[in-house]
Amino acid sequence: MPVLDDVLAARMNTLEQAALRRRVVVTDREEAPYVMRGGKRLISFSCNDYLGLSKHPKLVEAACAATQQYGVGGGASRLVTGNHPLYEALESALAAYKGTEAACVFGSGYLANIGTITALMNKGDLILADKLSHSCIVDAAQLSGATFKRFAHNDLGHLDILLQTYRQSYERCLIVTETVFSMDGDIAPLEGIMALAKKHSAWVMSDDAHGLGLVTSSPVDIQMGTLSKAAGVYGGYVCGSQTLVDYLKNSARSLIYTTSLPPGVIASSVTALEVMQAEPERGEKALANVQLFTQRLGFPSAQSAIVPLVLGDAARALEASRQLEKEGFLVSAIRPPTVPANTARLRFAFSALHESAEIERLTEVIRRDGWLQNTDTERLDAAS
Ligand SMILES: *Cc1c(COP(=O)(O)O)cnc(C)c1O
Repeated sequence: MPVLDDVLAARMNTLEQAALRRRVVVTDREEAPYVMRGGKRLISFSCNDYLGLSKHPKLVEAACAATQQYGVGGGASRLVTGNHPLYEALESALAAYKGTEAACVFGSGYLANIGTITALMNKGDLILADKLSHSCIVDAAQLSGATFKRFAHNDLGHLDILLQTYRQSYERCLIVTETVFSMDGDIAPLEGIMALAKKHSAWVMSDDAHGLGLVTSSPVDIQMGTLSKAAGVYGGYVCGSQTLVDYLKNSARSLIYTTSLPPGVIASSVTALEVMQAEPERGEKALANVQLFTQRLGFPSAQSAIVPLVLGDAARALEASRQLEKEGFLVSAIRPPTVPANTARLRFAFSALHESAEIERLTEVIRRDGWLQNTDTERLDAAS
């Protein structure tokens, strides 16, 4: 038997050679949108805390109060004794927010996708997902045992062809996409997808991880999302019919066989939804900030709080990220396999807490250091 560490060290070396090795870096987010890294204060354009809610005093207060009252842990699975009264409040608030009959809260967005897709789909069924779907959608589809195919990004024509070719050979069909794509910031043509689903008798599921609180999207059969991004807290959810939710609570293994969320986390999420509704200007500010960025760089107008700058090569993306860090900006390089080969990029995420002057300085540094050269066409290619 080869020595475990030797095998792993060789694999890590391969990653290092390809500029694909990842490191977790200690990052203190004491005062959003600033972070501290290695003793240096940076302004972050890499957090998904789009509305700045992770530091909101009301959310922090809700977490403290619930923790004082109920303790730090959930104690058991929701199906045993972990179904805290706060879950009821959160699920009805989510259903009201999304305009659905019911909602089901999971431990995280990852767990929501894994549990939902595997509960709905089996061997003999067909899952069609957008090519740029998040890894947890891919993992879930593979785990379900259904036949899994991907359609070209946002390409209704290709989706129609796949449905025409394969639909009739399978019992049930689920089409999965993201409302706002996590690494590209563009938006799925949900109306068109729903029309195709109707024509070919398929169900539609959308992942709204990056849309909640920022971009409203058409209601589909299964509306999944996370409380870990714009809501600023932690946890995942699925909104839909009461029947769907009842079924998930009976069948989603990532809900049944895991401990419930800590009470403080659930309480903060309830408050997050209240603040999101009471202060819509937060979402508006985040979107105004991203518009300022795209306008200053001459990019097409942003559709969400996310803008990619595709640089192609992983080493080039790392270098750009390092250069920006020297200027006081935290903009993480996103490399394969998170994004397709040769589309390594900087991913800029905008928040309600950024200020115009900082965004303007960021765009000046990007122009000055030449990161726009040979990127615009690649950026458009990657998006198409
Ligand atoms: C972040 C993300 C998830 C996972 O959500 P978590 O709550 O962080 O587990 C799922 N889907 C998409 C598109 C995401 O970006």
